[in-house]
Amino acid sequence: MSVESVFPRLEPLLPSISKPIQYVGGELNSTVKEWDSAQVRWALMYPDAYEVGLPNQGVQILYEILNERDWILAERTYAVLPDMEQVMRTHAIPQFTVDSHRPVGAFDVLGLSFSTELGYTNMLTALDLAGVPLHSADRTDEHPIVLAGGHSAFNPEPVADFLDAAVLGDGEEIVLAISDVVREWKDEGRPGGRDEVLLRLAKSGGVYVPRFYDVTYLPDGRIEKVVPNRPGVPWKVAKHTLMDLDAWPYPKNPLVPLAETVHERFSVEIFRGCTRGCRFCQAGMITRPVRERSLQGIGEMVQNGLDKTGLDEVGLLSLSSADHTEIGELATQLADRYEGSNTSLSLPSTRVDAFNITLANEFSRNGRRSGLTFAPEGGSERLRKVINKMVTEEDLIRTVAAAYSHGWRQVKLYFMCGLPTETDEDVLQIGELAKKVIETGREVSGRKDIRCTVSIGGFVPKPHTPFQWAAQLDHETTDERLRKLRASVQSDKKFGRAIGFRYHDGKPGTIEGLLSRGDRRVGKVVEAVWRDGGRFDGWSEHFSFDRWSEQAALALAGTGVDLDWYTTREREYGEVLPWDHLDSGLDRDWLWEDWQDALDPDDSIEVEDCRWTPCYDCGVCPAMDTDIQIGPTGQKLLPLSVV
Ligand code: SF4
Repeated sequence: MSVESVFPRLEPLLPSISKPIQYVGGELNSTVKEWDSAQVRWALMYPDAYEVGLPNQGVQILYEILNERDWILAERTYAVLPDMEQVMRTHAIPQFTVDSHRPVGAFDVLGLSFSTELGYTNMLTALDLAGVPLHSADRTDEHPIVLAGGHSAFNPEPVADFLDAAVLGDGEEIVLAISDVVREWKDEGRPGGRDEVLLRLAKSGGVYVPRFYDVTYLPDGRIEKVVPNRPGVPWKVAKHTLMDLDAWPYPKNPLVPLAETVHERFSVEIFRGCTRGCRFCQAGMITRPVRERSLQGIGEMVQNGLDKTGLDEVGLLSLSSADHTEIGELATQLADRYEGSNTSLSLPSTRVDAFNITLANEFSRNGRRSGLTFAPEGGSERLRKVINKMVTEEDLIRTVAAAYSHGWRQVKLYFMCGLPTETDEDVLQIGELAKKVIETGREVSGRKDIRCTVSIGGFVPKPHTPFQWAAQLDHETTDERLRKLRASVQSDKKFGRAIGFRYHDGKPGTIEGLLSRGDRRVGKVVEAVWRDGGRFDGWSEHFSFDRWSEQAALALAGTGVDLDWYTTREREYGEVLPWDHLDSGLDRDWLWEDWQDALDPDDSIEVEDCRWTPCYDCGVCPAMDTDIQIGPTGQKLLPLSVV
């Protein structure tokens, strides 16, 4: 049965809302298929506004892979802004996809990609607008399977009540496997209803279905155990790892937004994974091992993306792009290829060494030298040892000297506040470092207009990292430390004006901490916040700490646990963590030893990168049957044929 578009009802309302262009779809390279021609239909959601969600690579990749199959249809939906939500409620317009404006509730699967936990309330808005019951337990065969992926899905427990399923890791292959299971079940006439299709997914071993696991608690509030409650459901659900990235050169047809979005460039992911071993970094830990694309593969993706989109900026993305084994060759060859054209290349530089300046110089051949960003993360050498980010002050100064002497005028330094064992003194060191950077810049360039921006984020301990056991710093102390740092920088007449200072207050980090390391009891808090009006919690203009803390107190009353218990409490080795049954491949004992080394950095040795040193047995490769895939291949970019 065909499903009607809501657009005829929506269109007359668009002039009354802000940013109507975000809801009309029709982007270049978007896909619209006949509803009836598909056997399995996916609505893919990035739970943030269109302007943030559209550039998301993960959604674009899955959208294309699914739509390449003639029996699958995939459309996109985004979080609607609060004014649009009101209009939709008033006029009874359901959550819709932007491709064909079909109601999300009519699809077989609603797949959500969570890159941050602060998108959870937006999921509830979408479910509610779609007419899908918020709780998985209340849904029937008529409702889509609500499935989460993305980095936050490595601990989906705080939203377990609202999800039917979650998948960990790379989505390319598993979305097709899920589609197969759903198609088979539908072809058979939906035997056993919703429970059966979820059971089939759970038994496949690659999909986590929270309802098939019971969680019990100890009197002190900690988890006692997590146990499967159905035969055939695995005790642990493993992440997915895509090998041979060159065989998956997606997106091949990148979407070109009609409205302004946060990134106006075409991005090519040059490798996946990172093994540098920064202890705070969840992305690095859960995406192991490193898998590189070849130079040819990247070259083809860059040219194809430019041809298909008409964009003139290409970003070479990954967790630490300068670490690609052939980044030097890639930079030179791409810069040669596009020299004299309008195409500009960019590389998010995060590593602090002089090599990055050579790269940055190559990449800026065609453009302006605006600013360079480096991320020492910790202000003092001691703290950088704690987090296993072995950047010496000398490295940093040498690098910025090279940058300023090559004509760069602005350097941005990124740090975190609230790292384990941190003291006021460590944070004050950030200011001292910034002053040395300015001094060096003035010296080597002979100019006075040197600027350095210090950007600071609050540290949030994340699951599947060595810091998963750490106590999070309370937001009051975080803010106090940053106030002292700002005062010390600004009181220095010689440097104060040359140093820009950017930080957000510590409160959103505390809520992110609750949602990152929470268990199923936190679901009540998420729902209460949403019912109280919580929306777009990742946006400072919408986020309300008071709402979260008040609702957390109410929702958790009588449980013996509270906001502090989830955030500022250090965990012990023996505690069952809410995500222990979700397998990222990392060996728990390896993580624990690494955590102990962090607490005693003088007695430990640096964990090096297993790309260049022998394997140090983090556990991922044997557990996931994967291996590191890196160059150098010694190959060159294929020449482009001149038309
Ligand atoms: S198992 Fe060894 S080679 Fe694989 S990611 Fe871990 S340390 Fe590196």
